[in-house]
Amino acid sequence: MTTTRFAPSPTGYIHVGNLRTALMNYLIARKAGGTFILRIDDTDPERSKEEYVDAIKQDLDWLGLHWDRVERQSARLERYAEAADRLREMGRFYEAFETPTELDLKRKKQLNMGKPPVYDRAALNLSEAEKDKLRAERGDGVWRFKLDQERIEWTDGILGDTSIDAASVSDPVLIRGDGQVLYTLASVVDDTEMGVTHVVRGSDHVTNTATQIQIIAALGGTVPSFAHHSLLTGPQGDSLSKRLGTLSLRDLRAQGVEPMALLSLMARLGSADPVELRSSMDELIEGFDISRFGAAPTKFDAADLFPLTAHHLQSLDYADVADKIADIGVPGDLGERFWLVARDNITTLHDLEGWWTLFRDGAEPVIEDEDAAFIAQAMDMLPEGPHDTDTWGAWTTAVKEATGRKGKALFMPLRKALTGQGHGPDMAQVLPLLQRIRAKE
Ligand code: GLU
Repeated sequence: MTTTRFAPSPTGYIHVGNLRTALMNYLIARKAGGTFILRIDDTDPERSKEEYVDAIKQDLDWLGLHWDRVERQSARLERYAEAADRLREMGRFYEAFETPTELDLKRKKQLNMGKPPVYDRAALNLSEAEKDKLRAERGDGVWRFKLDQERIEWTDGILGDTSIDAASVSDPVLIRGDGQVLYTLASVVDDTEMGVTHVVRGSDHVTNTATQIQIIAALGGTVPSFAHHSLLTGPQGDSLSKRLGTLSLRDLRAQGVEPMALLSLMARLGSADPVELRSSMDELIEGFDISRFGAAPTKFDAADLFPLTAHHLQSLDYADVADKIADIGVPGDLGERFWLVARDNITTLHDLEGWWTLFRDGAEPVIEDEDAAFIAQAMDMLPEGPHDTDTWGAWTTAVKEATGRKGKALFMPLRKALTGQGHGPDMAQVLPLLQRIRAKE
């Protein structure tokens, strides 16, 4: 059965880059009727925070990316220890004692000599006595996985046929000196034991994938299908990594971005298919095909989310937003009318408040000097409220007859006097909503 997972580390809020990973894994699982696991990669006790676990769940919930079950790496440490023991028994795991400074020096020397900065495996030559001595001096070493130095190949769901020469990769450290199991091992054990069939993640993980394929094979697991999506860049191709903090899902949510707008964009951005606003998760699932995505960096512009949000809102019925409209204080009997007028004139739901303030309090009239007498006459002719959608037509017809004004010269000064603006929704719809007409007071 198709099983995917989204595996964030709870060390911060998730952002649009994480969302791309989450969404692709989610859509693959749902399209196949499979399982989508939320895996919390919390083997780092110092950096992992419970508040971020909660925040990740809230963000996914907000988007409707519901998981079938949650797994936590911190609850599986004995599984990782067991896998580490097996690697030791196989002779694929060795302890190394170099300090970060020593490793850095080695790397610099290699680079100076024009060689790739790959760990030289010096620790493999240590005798037991030497190891004991180093351990006594420096504490426990790190544990490295001994790669088979061959070409590692896989058919990537996005990158196509991919291969990495293991000789160009350092033997990965899987356990730190303080005993902390690192992501590479934990992830492999989980993917294998949880029956994960498809792994989609960012292209910054391509080298990890190569080493993980060997670790999975060593542990006797089945290698999942891997796909690596390109990383997001800013609109000009600039790096997004520093700005991702401001592109957290909660920031976008606070700015009024609608989930469907965000999901619709992310389900297509960087693919050969155009971005289309979808109205439901089912449509997103239906229209998703990972093989349509390309390897080139994907430009992301948060500004694109706002027209999509506006379009999405235009498609909503009153019932979809009735609660929010009640929250800003619109009386129930005006709610639906208010929504039908406002929805075509907002970018996000935050804009509703401005419209309601205008309707409730009335606008400061804008009246040009040459229109003052005309407006005074027109206001005398405007019946007392409440008004209905016929009021505007009947009133402006009467004003036209009385003053001889027509077209723009008739309508524009009236609009400005009533709303303080030269543009806006259909006045026949606006008039019944206006609770105060200051130009008439
Ligand atoms: N916790 C890892 C990360 O956030 C997961 C990567 C993976 O999907 O394997 O980068």
